[in-house]
Amino acid sequence: MDRKYIIAGNWKMNKTPAEAKALLEEIVKANAGKTACEIVLCVPAIDIPAAIEATAGTNIKIGAQNVHFKDNGAYTAEISAAMLKECGVEYVIIGHSERRQYFGETDQTVNLRTAQALANGLKAIVCVGETLEERKDGITFDLISIQIKRAFKGISAEDMANVVIAYEPVWAIGTGETATNEQAEEVCCFIRGLIAELYSTDVANAMTIQYGGSMNAKNAAELLAMDNIDGGLIGGASLKAPDFTTIIDSVK
Ligand code: PEP
Repeated sequence: MDRKYIIAGNWKMNKTPAEAKALLEEIVKANAGKTACEIVLCVPAIDIPAAIEATAGTNIKIGAQNVHFKDNGAYTAEISAAMLKECGVEYVIIGHSERRQYFGETDQTVNLRTAQALANGLKAIVCVGETLEERKDGITFDLISIQIKRAFKGISAEDMANVVIAYEPVWAIGTGETATNEQAEEVCCFIRGLIAELYSTDVANAMTIQYGGSMNAKNAAELLAMDNIDGGLIGGASLKAPDFTTIIDSVK
């Protein structure tokens, strides 16, 4: 089954608009015309206009790092799906572990944000993953199962075509500690099986499932060669054009 590989960068709270423009110009130049995977950069909200301009007419897509679940209203500092869409954003990360850890994101708000993103024509990169404590307690699969069942409650099979799931073990994010190829594959395979149970084998087989957690220029090729890993969500290494390019080139 040919699935779409997606290499997505998550810049987190890094790069001013001018810095974003410069880095994107480097990334665009290094990756012009590549078709083995979809290339997405999820930039800080303030950088979005500069990012859209720097990537216009190229093979690089722009994503946001969050979206609010209401259409509009008294939600100071929040950004709506319609605002993102109008700016030219195609993807949005939802439920990143840093949002869950520091900003009170829950499985329920992940569900609401996912529904809102999809209803507005955005593609959702929904993050799931266990903490080190949860892995040590042997509840990784239970936890992932709950996160997924809640994240996609009420989301139709048709809408799942615009969903990417990123498996990001929390203990591997920004720590330099990567899950082994086998650990990452085991959970991504479990996720695909769960999607098959909840929807259908067709939906599961078509779904892009990424691994994220200290993926870098050195370990990307092995991780991306695993059967159920169809791309990466990349933090630190997406801030360096040569490293991010090597990861893109690791997709076979
Ligand atoms: C992330 O931010 O989703 C991530 C995986 O970060 P890093 O690659 O730096 O671990």
